[in-house]
Amino acid sequence: MKDFKGFNFRADVAAGIEAAGYTSPTPIQAEAIPAVMDGRDVMGLAQTGTGKTAAFALPILNRLAEGKRGQVRALIVAPTRELAEQIHESIETLGKKTGLRSITVYGGVNINPQINKLKRGTDIVVACPGRLLDHIGQGTINLSRLEVLVLDEADHMFDMGFLPDIRRVLKSIPSTRQTLLFSATMPSEIKKLAHDVLSNPETVQVDNTAAATTVSHAIYPVAQHLKTKLLMELLQHTDTESVLIFTRTKHRAKRLGEQLEKKGYTAASLQGNLSQNRRQAALNGFRDGTYQILVATDIAARGIDVSQVSHVINYDIPDTPEAYVHRIGRTGRAARTGDAFTLVSSEDNSMVRTIERKLGKPLERKKVEGFEYDTKAPHKDKEFARPPRQHNQRRPQKQTGKKSAAHGSSGAHFRGTKRSG
Ligand code: AMP
Repeated sequence: MKDFKGFNFRADVAAGIEAAGYTSPTPIQAEAIPAVMDGRDVMGLAQTGTGKTAAFALPILNRLAEGKRGQVRALIVAPTRELAEQIHESIETLGKKTGLRSITVYGGVNINPQINKLKRGTDIVVACPGRLLDHIGQGTINLSRLEVLVLDEADHMFDMGFLPDIRRVLKSIPSTRQTLLFSATMPSEIKKLAHDVLSNPETVQVDNTAAATTVSHAIYPVAQHLKTKLLMELLQHTDTESVLIFTRTKHRAKRLGEQLEKKGYTAASLQGNLSQNRRQAALNGFRDGTYQILVATDIAARGIDVSQVSHVINYDIPDTPEAYVHRIGRTGRAARTGDAFTLVSSEDNSMVRTIERKLGKPLERKKVEGFEYDTKAPHKDKEFARPPRQHNQRRPQKQTGKKSAAHGSSGAHFRGTKRSG
């Protein structure tokens, strides 16, 4: 489907789609929205970054906008506070004109404001399992009118030991309801959960790995301090339309954006701490061609409309093979084949092997003709000469209110994360 009109959303929901700046549905949206609108149970195999939130949020808003207000009719359960907040924010944006209310419920913060909001009445609750059970136990949430249940990132909930809590929640909600289950992977426990909670589900799947196979990949081995130089050479020798460049750090994204501009490219960088306005301006500029190049970190790249990206360049290799596939999935989608270049230094060799295993094929090694690979590192260029952070030093993160990579577009899996929801 080319645009959102074919779904026949109510005008107030359509206004939300416009406000969010979405012009065409992502693959998961194109597949899931009709099924959810039909009232079907849905098993959605999709990771963060695919647009799965709107895939369930839009039909829920459309359904709830008709009917009695102020009672909990939709419950979305998510593994972490951060994801809960993100879902809540998406619902607020998309549902702004509907007047429907959404609140978040999670642990680690005072329960009283949540109780007050629940007392005042809300239509949608986005919750982490632990605190949700507290409210159920104390009788501070009334779920007797629940119509739609969403279990988001079910595999993460399983990883974090939340499945027994989920099963307890299920005992406290009406059995006649619509249930949507989203998971990036299907371990046997999730298959069993799906079997238990879904009735006659429609399965929708977006396979990023499949997208990645239509892309031609190449890796460019290079010393860390020569990456920027090699990138400039690559850009000069490649016929590119729109290029998305990934860096590991915000600082590097900013600096690379500036260096590209100095070289005469129309480039913008997206870093996590840009204001919403500036972020939107950069995104719009990339979309309409004002900027040919966008430099971003994984987190900042969330939400980039990807259909027109001709080249993805990994200035820094991602931390996980999932993130690689996810980044690369941004090109090659628009029927044409896309190109993906990854600059790798010697520290990245084991990640290259991991990615090759995931893709099931070796990545082609390439060299740029005439490039002086032996140039020594200048002493002053500390940031770029510094070896990158070791991949295995990434620690699991607790649920804090802070932004974490756990729900960046990388789709990275954080096993062993402590629970506090
Ligand atoms: P999600 O996978 O739900 O976390 O969404 C990833 C990002 O894609 C979010 O920043 C959304 O705002 C954005 N997004 C979702 N649907 C669309 C769409 N149809 N067009 C452009 N961006 C979208």
